[in-house]
Amino acid sequence: MRLRLTSLLAALSVSTLSAQGAARLTPQHLDSLKTEVSRAIDAEATMTQQMVDMVFSFGELAFQEVETSRYLTDILRKHGFTVRQNVSGLPTGWVAVWGTGKPVIAIGSDIDGIPQASQKPGVAYHDPIVQDAPGHGEGHNSGQAVNITAAIVLKRIMQRDRLPGTIMLWPGVAEELLGSKAWFVRDGLFQDVDAVIFSHVDSDFSTSYGAPTGTGLVSIEYTFEGETAHAAGSPWRGRSALDAVELLNAAWNYRREHLRPQHRVHYVIPNGGDQPNVVPRRASVWYYLRETDHAHIRALFAAGDTLARAAAMMAGVKLSQARVLGAAWPRHFNKPLAEAMHANIRRVGMPRWTSADVTLATAVQREVGGRARGLDTAVAEIGTGVNPDRNPGGGSDDIGDVSWVVPTITLRYPSNIPGLPGHNWSSAVAMATPIAHKGATAGAKAMAMTMLDLIASPALRDSAWAYFRDVQTRNEKYQALIRPTDKPPIEMNEAVMARFRPTMRRFYYDPTRYKTYLEQLGITYPTVRPDSSGRPR
Ligand SMILES: [Zn+2]
Repeated sequence: MRLRLTSLLAALSVSTLSAQGAARLTPQHLDSLKTEVSRAIDAEATMTQQMVDMVFSFGELAFQEVETSRYLTDILRKHGFTVRQNVSGLPTGWVAVWGTGKPVIAIGSDIDGIPQASQKPGVAYHDPIVQDAPGHGEGHNSGQAVNITAAIVLKRIMQRDRLPGTIMLWPGVAEELLGSKAWFVRDGLFQDVDAVIFSHVDSDFSTSYGAPTGTGLVSIEYTFEGETAHAAGSPWRGRSALDAVELLNAAWNYRREHLRPQHRVHYVIPNGGDQPNVVPRRASVWYYLRETDHAHIRALFAAGDTLARAAAMMAGVKLSQARVLGAAWPRHFNKPLAEAMHANIRRVGMPRWTSADVTLATAVQREVGGRARGLDTAVAEIGTGVNPDRNPGGGSDDIGDVSWVVPTITLRYPSNIPGLPGHNWSSAVAMATPIAHKGATAGAKAMAMTMLDLIASPALRDSAWAYFRDVQTRNEKYQALIRPTDKPPIEMNEAVMARFRPTMRRFYYDPTRYKTYLEQLGITYPTVRPDSSGRPR
């Protein structure tokens, strides 16, 4: 499917604004508009808080962000955005558009949760809302609140002042599985876009340009097929697919010694057979193969192929499938856009934390065995990227794919507690509390102000594209890691969500009855262990 933004724009009838040229705003006018959006976003703090809390309560896993997407797109429709669903064949993929003409500013943020991260917000120790259920153990419940608040407030001003420009909102579906953005790019979603601003939860308030530390990856599942037999009576009649899985893992663990230190290769075994007395006919192992640059990712991808075929030969089974489940290109962020964003971050400043916020943060940090450093109180310096030879590796994010087809930055806003292990219940603790709410409001301000910069300044757009053309992509061009026939694995997590959703539904946030989710759950903020002040753990 080729989804062109122009076809979305053609469907619009909401605006009569001129598409010609850019808004010519004096610096004073731009400055006063920034003050105005900042005030207007403060006035919408309750709306922001409700979105943060609502998506937190849904706690949906990758590809199953059904309630989340329905809720968010309903809000956007109600505010006059035109919504297209099922983008790139993703049931939870959508695009919402409002406005006319240039610039087209596409703002995105992730929406999926983490397995087994269910956690009562505001409680500084592991205390799930629903035992073993998924939850927002990274904080992806807050980014769309940032973007939607910014978009709604900015739209009002654009309408009133007849400012040309198009706001496009989109979700990072299944970011934890690197499962959507490469497909959005493949399907041309960003073809007519002038700039992408992505927002991501963090504990600091920051942005960066160049290549951040971290990796790109291919996520791939190898499935082997053998033959069953009675595992005690006639094991020689069978061929174990699980043997191939184990041989492949052993091979990778030997191969590690000869890989660069910055690689990351890790796996889980989604299918290791049925029961011990049946020789496993089918088994599969799922790998993330990560490296810091394209050539090394491709090399890991190729090594995986060889090792998987060799493992099949050794076990006397067939390698029946090598399915790409996700991919992420290493990121590179745009310098002029990051500089504009950074100035706005400084202007907004950190939220004011209360002693309750700091008490919660310190107690969680102690609980997970970290340094009790509380919350960040100053905005971060602008990130200037890392020399490729000095990149130590680390996580990946499929915003990388987007960043190589259109000038892109990530706004990191301060809604979480620093110093936590990540992908863990502890990263959910703050995510439906005043820490998350205030961080999202601050993020929305920086987002809206930077969008105003893009609307007001064709020169900023030009310099962003000049950097993209002449610096970023001068020697390196994007080549998708997904193949033309790869489809997003939209059935993933269906079974887990089917198991937990009925119980989780009982805890969905009801803003018509409760001011906050904390209030609905009857949680005293903050709830900390009586002895959390010094117990060695
Ligand atoms: Zn994330």
